Amino acid sequence: MAKRDFYEVLSLPKNASTKEVKRAYKRLAMQYHPDRNQNNKDASEAKFKEIKEAYEVLSDEKKRAAYDQYGHTAFEQSGAGSGADFSDIFGDVFGDIFGNGRRQQRSNRGSDLQYNMDLTLEEAVRGVTKEIRIPTLEACDICYGSGAKPGTSADKCLTCNGIGQVHMRQGFFSVQQPCPTCHGRGKVIKTLCNKCHGHGRVKCYKTLSVKIPAGIDTGDRVRLSGEGEMGEKGSQSGDIFVQIQVLPHNIFERDGNNLHCEIPINFTIAALGGEMEVPTLHGRVKLTIPPETQTGKIFRIKCKGVKSIRGGLQGDLMCHTVVETPVKLNEKQKKLLKEFGESLGGTSGEKNSPRSKSFLDGVKKFFDDLTNK
Ligand SMILES: [Zn+2]
Ligand SMILES: [Zn+2]
Repeated sequence: MAKRDFYEVLSLPKNASTKEVKRAYKRLAMQYHPDRNQNNKDASEAKFKEIKEAYEVLSDEKKRAAYDQYGHTAFEQSGAGSGADFSDIFGDVFGDIFGNGRRQQRSNRGSDLQYNMDLTLEEAVRGVTKEIRIPTLEACDICYGSGAKPGTSADKCLTCNGIGQVHMRQGFFSVQQPCPTCHGRGKVIKTLCNKCHGHGRVKCYKTLSVKIPAGIDTGDRVRLSGEGEMGEKGSQSGDIFVQIQVLPHNIFERDGNNLHCEIPINFTIAALGGEMEVPTLHGRVKLTIPPETQTGKIFRIKCKGVKSIRGGLQGDLMCHTVVETPVKLNEKQKKLLKEFGESLGGTSGEKNSPRSKSFLDGVKKFFDDLTNK
């Protein structure tokens, strides 16, 4: 199969900086990661490997120089980037989100992983326990991690004499590479384990139960200590950060600890007053609408908002009034309304429509001022 140009794979110009290479890789790797493309796993896995291979070359100064000069032939013997190890893949995509500083200081510590969780408003307000599935690697239970078929064992690699590294000449460069025969392990397994195909580890999912505290909001995160990527050689594992996103609700909108909702009121109740049932997250409550209620009036229902996750007070529910114009009137209703309208004495009826009155007075003064200049 003809290989695509590495720059083309990452959609980059030939003069792209290392930073741009990294950024392009991160974006594409997120997009094509097999775990994010469950419906189309095989295609995305192939694509992912292609992206990863291009990144490995273009992000390495020496390899990139060799590639720029010789193209793909520079790597044909060395097999650079082939057989991407899944532990790297998880690290690249999920880890490395919280900056490199920490990783460099504690280089053996496993990477932190981020998990994005969507919650309904009800779940966020009341709290909930959710199960999440996290990709992970486990020691193979058939070969106990050796990679060799049970009953057989691994032999010293003759290509690298068990060191795992070889020196390769690439044009003018001598580059140390993982041994192409044993892929850096120093050992060769003659008969591969059927389950893990010699990797010693198998990809699997672990299910974790996450307790989401009541009052959590978009942008908050829950830390699962030690549940991140396995540390190297028995050192500390990373953490998982569950990043919360609260989904839009069709009635309520949250603003801090307060909830807002819109309540439509028919114009008879708005004029004469009455009682209405309004929804809250804790059930229905009765709201008394006073006579002469206008659109935009806000009724505050105490303590029907959200209790802060940080132990603060319970917020309120703010009901925003919208007076609704009646529709689909029958002839009789129209006639009644006409009579009613006439009783008001036109649009500027002083007594009955204070807002129209002051508006029309304002308009009159505006034009008077213009013509008197
Ligand atoms: Zn070797
Ligand atoms: Zn195995």
